[in-house]
Amino acid sequence: MSRNEARVQAIQQITNRAPVSVKMPKPLSEIWACDVFNLASMEEALSKNAFKVIKNTVQTGAALDAATADIVAAAMKEWAMSKGVKFYSHIFYPMTNITAEKHDGFIVTNSDGGAITEFTGSLLIKGEPDGSSFPNGSIRMTNAARGYTAWDPTSPAYVMHTENGATLMIPCVFMSWTGEALDKKIPLLRSNHAMNKAAQKVLSLMGETSIATLNSSCGAEQEYFLVDAAFANSRPDLLLAGRTLFGAPAPKGQQFDDHYFGAIPARVQVFMQDYEDQLYRLGIPAKTHHNEVAPAQFEIAPYFEAANVAADHQQLMMTLMKSTAKKHGFICLLHEKPFAGINGSGKHVNWSVGNATQGNLLDPGKTPHDNLNFLLFCGAVIRGVHLFGPLLRAVIASAANDHRLGANEAPPAILSVYLGDQLEKVYMDIKAGKLATTTEGGLMDLGLSQILKFERDPGDRNRTSPFAFTGNRFEFRAVGSSQSVSGPLVAMNTMLADSLNWIAEKLEVALKEKGDKATAVFAVLKEIMELHGNVVFGGNGYSPEWHKMAVEERGLKNLPTSADALPVLREEYVKKLFESTGVLTRVELESRFDVYAEQYILSIEVEAKLVIDMAKTAIYPAAIQYLSDIAKTSSEMANMKIELDSSIAKTIAAEANAMMAAVGKLSEAIQQHDFASTEAHMNHCAHVILGLMNEVRSHADALELEVADELWPFPKYSEMLFIK
Ligand code: ADP
Ligand code: MG
Repeated sequence: MSRNEARVQAIQQITNRAPVSVKMPKPLSEIWACDVFNLASMEEALSKNAFKVIKNTVQTGAALDAATADIVAAAMKEWAMSKGVKFYSHIFYPMTNITAEKHDGFIVTNSDGGAITEFTGSLLIKGEPDGSSFPNGSIRMTNAARGYTAWDPTSPAYVMHTENGATLMIPCVFMSWTGEALDKKIPLLRSNHAMNKAAQKVLSLMGETSIATLNSSCGAEQEYFLVDAAFANSRPDLLLAGRTLFGAPAPKGQQFDDHYFGAIPARVQVFMQDYEDQLYRLGIPAKTHHNEVAPAQFEIAPYFEAANVAADHQQLMMTLMKSTAKKHGFICLLHEKPFAGINGSGKHVNWSVGNATQGNLLDPGKTPHDNLNFLLFCGAVIRGVHLFGPLLRAVIASAANDHRLGANEAPPAILSVYLGDQLEKVYMDIKAGKLATTTEGGLMDLGLSQILKFERDPGDRNRTSPFAFTGNRFEFRAVGSSQSVSGPLVAMNTMLADSLNWIAEKLEVALKEKGDKATAVFAVLKEIMELHGNVVFGGNGYSPEWHKMAVEERGLKNLPTSADALPVLREEYVKKLFESTGVLTRVELESRFDVYAEQYILSIEVEAKLVIDMAKTAIYPAAIQYLSDIAKTSSEMANMKIELDSSIAKTIAAEANAMMAAVGKLSEAIQQHDFASTEAHMNHCAHVILGLMNEVRSHADALELEVADELWPFPKYSEMLFIK
């Protein structure tokens, strides 16, 4: 019997596992959104008048009066209690990537010991979770730690069930008592508002008369890993850091491309079906699932929705993904790089903007008129990415995502825009002045000759680009798998708002000067391309030539680590962007820098401590044990006059010594605390601590390949990735 019981038992357990069956699946029509208090449930529960008011709020974000809030609260309570709900929770999204919730009972006792239930409009609208422990940067002093949650009626409330009950969940914003945004929802709502205001200006200059409120949309493709819980439970690194800090590569990885889109393992399929049924009950439109590139890696994508709702749903999806995986005997890893040597996980954020009257403004459309609107909005995005590329890099910065960006599996840390051959040619022609006027009749035939023939088939998609046009939307591919989509959406909406404001000013002048709409639009676009066309790149984003060209010839920024990227949030032009659009005040922005920088530092420190702990208390003892076994055998053999080759023992001793020397250096490095600035501390993490962690790992991984398998203390890559 092996001396490592835990590993052997884990393998036995997994081999004997049967898929966890759930009760007979119900048809979609029966479960779809059945736990959501959406407009349909409200229409049933409310008077005509009250429904009209709340519907207007939901669709346009207009303020809700106190009387209607009371009526909605009462209806919401009745609806929820009919589903067995006893508690409600304001849920909100602090500046970490997590979802926070505080639960309160509907119960109120009366003087004769009875219990009644109560839920008023004011309880629905406002909560006070205190929450002095939520990260707030420098905004809230702990002695004034009051934080408020406030109901966001534009994202529907829903019911979450467990075996023993149900809770009404109410999506909320979270702010300080001085009114500053302490969360990820407020900036998202504000960024939509800013984008709408700017887009309205441009569209009315373009002659549109009826313009409905514009909103941004988001469809996020989520990648994740499933590892059997029996293995994960004996890997402290997976449990505490979400990634393996040690592990020699398995002989087989992803080189055969035999996992991507392969047949989904039965246990995983059962997990997916259970998970997706829960999503359907919550009105989350799960649409696509498949195996991903790395072994044990999968993807799920819901159909796109309004950005604010999509962001809430994304958070809920991550929570449910983890809890459902647990039920099925897996651990769901959302970390961006759980395993070295194989692909990590991202979250492609598909984004577009549009409204009910003009449709999707990032869709080229079918008429020359639509084409012009499209070219302006797409041009606005090009300008935005050029001016605020570093910001886009900053909003996806995290210790975990740094492992992925630029590692030839995910887009580089240089932000460029991919348009596709045809659209790129249109813009280059505009830049060169080849497309400057309309044809006869005042209509340009741009649509007919070039855009209408535009390939919608995304076959030629460039997977190496961080920011790609994919037919009717942009896809921001550098976002990390564990991240909230709000940060990226806020950055995209805000840069678009800024560009549209700029365009509106230019267009107004150009229209007066040129008289003709198309000529004016081309003049504005020509200027955009002259100033910002450098950011358009259709080649291989992974190639070293591009990295050199991007920085040296095109003046784009390469920000490889979070320590390089996060300080962008402190730059004056970024402060001005957020201030001028009303999305974040200077104080709010500064607090975001503080929070994200602190999280970066803390997560690297936790990993460093784990590295030291695992190396010292598990890996070194295994190596020593094996050396002792060899020594014992060797001296017994010597008695028999047989000489055992000592080279393996020498290698092991050398690696073990080198590993412990690196552990010593790492222990010293994490003691250092006297930094001149947060930036200096981040740089220390990025360049000193991470380097030493890698040094420890390289010796430990070498030992894994030498030490007897039965002595190795941790489940190996070949086990975690391939035994299902
Ligand atoms: P792929 O893997 O080919 O990129 P998927 O179908 O997996 O595509 O995911 C594409 C995502 O983009 C889906 O969530 C889809 O709903 C979303 N999407 C499609 N059209 C739009 C749009 N106009 N705006 C935002 N998201 C969109
Ligand atoms: Mg995609």
